[in-house]
Amino acid sequence: MTPLLDVRNLHKSFDVSGPMGGRRLKLRAVDGVSFTLERGETLGVVGESGCGKSTTGRLIMRLIEPDSGEIFFEGQDILKLSPRKFRPLRREIQMIFQDPYSSLSPRMRIGEIIGEPLKIHGLAQGDAIRKEVVELLQKVGLGEEHYERFPHEFSGGQRQRIGIARALAVRPKLIIADEPVSALDLSIQAQVVNLMQDLQEEFGLTYLFIAHDLSVIEHISDRVAVMYLGRIVELADAEELYRAPRHPYTEALLNAVPVPDPHHRRPRRLLKGEIPSPIFPPPGCHFHPRCPYARDVCKEVNPPLEDKGGKHYAACHFSNEVGKFRHSEKK
Ligand code: SF4
Repeated sequence: MTPLLDVRNLHKSFDVSGPMGGRRLKLRAVDGVSFTLERGETLGVVGESGCGKSTTGRLIMRLIEPDSGEIFFEGQDILKLSPRKFRPLRREIQMIFQDPYSSLSPRMRIGEIIGEPLKIHGLAQGDAIRKEVVELLQKVGLGEEHYERFPHEFSGGQRQRIGIARALAVRPKLIIADEPVSALDLSIQAQVVNLMQDLQEEFGLTYLFIAHDLSVIEHISDRVAVMYLGRIVELADAEELYRAPRHPYTEALLNAVPVPDPHHRRPRRLLKGEIPSPIFPPPGCHFHPRCPYARDVCKEVNPPLEDKGGKHYAACHFSNEVGKFRHSEKK
């Protein structure tokens, strides 16, 4: 069956000024990203700031255009569509942002904010809009009493619920959630993730869930893609990836996740050094300056993303050795 989303070899660079305003340089934000997303699935995309995960989301939304690559939505290459032909598809792909406050107009009442996309896409008119908005408010755990209020009257978690209701209003098939809970307290994060899971079931939604922390996406993801300097370095079934990562970077991210129970602590082998500049990425495997497994070949040969067995993909010359620094998990 055709996947809902099929992203093939996507590239996107940005021109940036060199030091002291010198010659223009290329920042490779997305460097050959490919993946598919099945209907009803959640793909978690994780990596440090600047790894290209948010740019990937914005490319799929066509908020920016890629340099090359293909994006098929329900089998149709959306990059070949003119803006006019793409417009109806905008309804089917919605985005939820990290900072809902900046995406909610401060001068509009909540009812108008959620009802606006219904009007724009001609999905409801007059009293039907209010009825639909009240239903959406209830679906996200708010109520009719919130209809006339303004965004500043809500907490961060409530504002994210409003952002979700607005995205849901047009009954999308795919939601790209760009760090939707990163700015929230831990307890609120769990509530919003649970709400998203409930809504996924009720509306048959497909999620691309972007986060910088593996712990956030653990329970919601069916599969996880780990990105580093514009490339996917590991892609696997979520349970398998958390249990037995095949890329040293994923292993390091897992080691950085705090484990509250002191009897079940993992050995803390945290990442050395800063993430290199995407303007001057290291040759060969981009991860080699920070990798505890690196050898000479890693400095010269970029490892391709390969199936290491059971659709567990990793881009590492020594993926079979990964785990030797992560020997004592739960006893
Ligand atoms: Fe580390 Fe080499 Fe694997 Fe890159 S290819 S992750 S440097 S072992």
